[in-house]
Formats: sequence, structure tokens, C-alpha cells
Amino acid sequence: MLCFKGKGVYGAISIGVISLLNKTEEIIPRFSVENIENELRRVDKARRNAILQLDEIYKKALTEVGETGAQIFEIHKMMLEDEDYCEAIENTIKIQRVNAEYAVSIASDSFSSMFEGMDDSYMQARASDVRDISLRLIDCLMDRKRDTGESGKNIVICATDLAPSETVTLDKNSICGFATSYGSVNSHTSILARNMNIPAVIGLGGNFITSVQNGDTIAINGYTGEVFVNPDNNTLTEINRLIEEDKNKKHLLETLRGKETVTLDGKKIKLYANIGGVDNLGSVLYNDADGIGLFRSEFIYLESREYPGENEQFAIYKRVLEAMSGKRVIIRTLDIGADKQVDYFDLKKEENPALGYRAIRICLDRPDVFKTQLRALFRASIYGNLSIMFPMIISSDEVRSALALCDEIKRELDSESIRYANDIEIGIMIETPASAIISDTLAPLVDFFSIGTNDLIQYTLACDRQNPLLEKFADTHHEAILRLIKYTVDSAHAHGKWVGICGELASDTSLTERFLRMGIDELSVSPTFVLPIRKVIRETDLSK
Ligand code: PEP
Ligand code: MG
Repeated sequence: MLCFKGKGVYGAISIGVISLLNKTEEIIPRFSVENIENELRRVDKARRNAILQLDEIYKKALTEVGETGAQIFEIHKMMLEDEDYCEAIENTIKIQRVNAEYAVSIASDSFSSMFEGMDDSYMQARASDVRDISLRLIDCLMDRKRDTGESGKNIVICATDLAPSETVTLDKNSICGFATSYGSVNSHTSILARNMNIPAVIGLGGNFITSVQNGDTIAINGYTGEVFVNPDNNTLTEINRLIEEDKNKKHLLETLRGKETVTLDGKKIKLYANIGGVDNLGSVLYNDADGIGLFRSEFIYLESREYPGENEQFAIYKRVLEAMSGKRVIIRTLDIGADKQVDYFDLKKEENPALGYRAIRICLDRPDVFKTQLRALFRASIYGNLSIMFPMIISSDEVRSALALCDEIKRELDSESIRYANDIEIGIMIETPASAIISDTLAPLVDFFSIGTNDLIQYTLACDRQNPLLEKFADTHHEAILRLIKYTVDSAHAHGKWVGICGELASDTSLTERFLRMGIDELSVSPTFVLPIRKVIRETDLSK
């Protein structure tokens, strides 16, 4: 048995089978070969296997992301058979008399650098596809399993680290946990784990990933951050006991389903849930959230291989609104950039992405992209109770520009006789110190504020939320944060607007009473935190 200790990012416990998520940085062995013909045959066979794999992936992608999203795997098949690429591999084998996997890695480097050096941004983006198909070919040559090495139920994904885009494309039905060597508690991957309701432990150290193998049994304790690989019988018994205890605790909370979210002295609070996509709807409904306080719409873009079209987005928003049957659904417009990178946006690499080109800044610079989303949102609005929210605001001008685009969309839809709801509330996220400080100026422009404490903390305390070294400095209860929240609440109320919190701090039960005393009207949390927060609210008496 091996034991590791990291940081738990979602409180739950599970036992499963390890599936290693392979990464590209591995060193490919180079050795001389005598039998050149044999090496060439190995490449041929590996190519055929890789194509069969891509056929399967294409079929799976068709059902999960639709035809346009799945198209990339057809392109990958064509790239694998590209004459120049195949010739480069063969030549390296013949001339250098080296093994096939090394020849593939050389072709991968030279073709991807060639694409990267091109002027056309579409061609530049092909570099990552070359690396991807080459890695697949190498995996076939070395007989390695790729991505989710194990399939079936109760899979625990183990990786060096996970990017949000990798996390969203995993088969959520079969996963019962994540364990990674690195990562940060506030990263979007950790947030996804919480939204997906699965135990996750990060920061287990570099040793972890090199010591485990596909198929090993792993027990994860998302409360304590403990991880046991191939646990002995005593540990297994203890873990099973903890799982049972956890189930009972969660069972007790279930008695709060269907109950009002109201304090002992009668103040009603909106208790909403955060989601990243339609996959989370089941959990929202099961945990009986009063609405959706934050739909991170950028995950639609992250899951897609190209710009999601108006109709594709419309269908998703409609589905969420219909599922919530008239309860409020706040959809946040696209917030990419920083740790949420989308290849097809062709954003330049930045030295300091957290302080960079993201969210509303991109949307206002790219009205074509923004208007597609806004049109989809307005069209979907007749299917439920929609509110729209803009992220990363720092000025009144940004709010005015975004609102002007909404007006433009309404005029367009009017001229096309397309219906939309005329009572859509429009709000903004307060997640930069600037927006909190000028919240008194912003309040008259909008219908509501939602405080994004994840970014508010990183920008106020100058602590990159992706950097695990800074976690100890990012004091979530820092007086500066609490004062900014209080000031924002007062600004909103002075103008008759409501205000909520949708960052992770909303689920910190040690602050719930304080937030309520500040006058917070809404809390939006990962679905599984809805009932624990409802419990605290129902036990709070603000008259005392
Ligand atoms: C936040 O910053 O608190 C927030 C809710 O947005 P995100 O975590 O998606 O950046
Ligand atoms: Mg944010």
C-alpha cells in the first residue's frame, strides 16, 4: 500500500480504479535498429490502430459534442495519413536507423514547429493537432493506453495536473474521483470537481504520478486529502466505514430538500447553484436549489472544437431554462482567458494571463462572437426565467457597451419577428477590486450584482489563484475582502438592487451568518453545498 497526502478539494470519499491521464512531456526513447523493414511495418500497424481508435472517438464525440465538434477526429485521421508526414517518419527510420517511436517524435517536433511558424492563425493552431496524432501513434507503437487508460465504472483519473478543458471532456459517468500531483484548490478544475460532485485530491507531489499504474486500486478521501494506493484490508475497511458515515450524514441533509431557505427570524434568502453545463442539472434539481446563480457558459466553448454557433448555444440555454421550470437561471456570458484557454480563439500567449485578456474584454473586442451568444440567450429567454450576467467588469463604460449590444440584439430580433422575454434581468459580476470600489456608480446601470470572490480574492490580495504556493497568503477571510463585499452590498441596496455571492466563499459556512448580517440577498454555490448552506441559514437568527 502507498499513502499520499494532498489537499482535498471536494468533501467526499471513494474507492476506484486508477486511470492515468497521459501527458505529452514524456521522453521518447531513442535506440538504433538493425531491421529497418520491421520498424516500417511497426509504423504501419500503429497507424492502422490509431485510425481505428479515432473512428471510435469520432463516434463517441458525435453523441457528446455533435458533428461539428467531432469533425476534428476525421481531420486527425487524414493527418495521420498525410504523405509528407509519413515520409518524414520513414526517412528518419531509414537514414538514422532508429526506432519508430523516436522517428515519430522527430516528425512531430518538426511538423508542429513548421505549423507554429506560419502566419495564418488557423495553420498555427494545427501544431497541437500534429502533436496529438503523433502522441497517439507513439502510444500505439509502445502499446500504451491513452487518456483514460481504464474504462468502465468507478474510474479515478490520476494526472500530473488537469486543465479545465481536459476535465470537461472526460466521461463523467464513469469517474468517481480525481487525484493530481499538482494543482490549486481554486482552479477551475477543482471547481469542476465540486460541481460534478466527485471527490478530488490535488497537490499529491511529483512522486505520486510516477508511483501509480493503470488498474491500481485507489481510495481517495476528499475531506482529509489522504490517498491510498492498493490499500490493505484494514485501510479498506476503514475507508468503507467512512463512506457509510458520509452517506448517513448526507442523508440527514436530505430532509432539507423542499424546505424554504429562510432564517429563524423570517428573512428569505435566494439559495442558488453554480453549474458548468447541462450535465450538472441533475445535481441542481436533486439538491433542490432555488435557481441557478451562475452558469459558466464558457464551458460550452471549452468543450467545443470551434466557435459554438447560435443554434447550438440556443439549444443548451433552452434546455437549462426548461429544466429549471421557471426558477431563475443566471447565465454568465463568456469568460475565457486566464486558465480557461480555447485554442480556436487564437489568443496570444501572455506573460501574465490572470491579469490579462479575458472575459468581457474579449467579448467587447469581438462583437461577432459576443453577439452570437447574446442572440442565443435572448432567443432562449422565452423558455424560462433568464438573467444575463457580464464577468470581469472594471468600468461603467464596459457595462454601457455590453448593454448597448443587448439593445442592438433586441432590435435585430424585433426586425426578424423573433420573440424574447422582455423582463430579462441584467447584472454584472463584482470580481475585481475596481468594480467593488465603484459599485455605487455601477449599481444604477444594472439589475443585480453577483460577487465573484474567487477573482476578487486573487486581484485584491495579489495572489494568482492558480499558484499553489500562494494559497497560504490568499486569506479568504481577509478584512479587505469582507469590506469590499459589505461596500458592494450597501451600494446595491442604496439603489434598490439585489446582490449575491457566486464565488466559492459563498459556501464557507463559517461566513454564512456574517454575509446574512451584511444583507446579502443570494448565495450561489456548487450544487452539493446547497443543503448544508440551507441548514446554516435556517439555524441563523438575525434578530439577535
Ligand atoms: C469568481 O471569480 O468568483 C467566479 C465565480 O468566477 P470564476 O470562478 O469562474 O472565475
Ligand atoms: Mg471569476
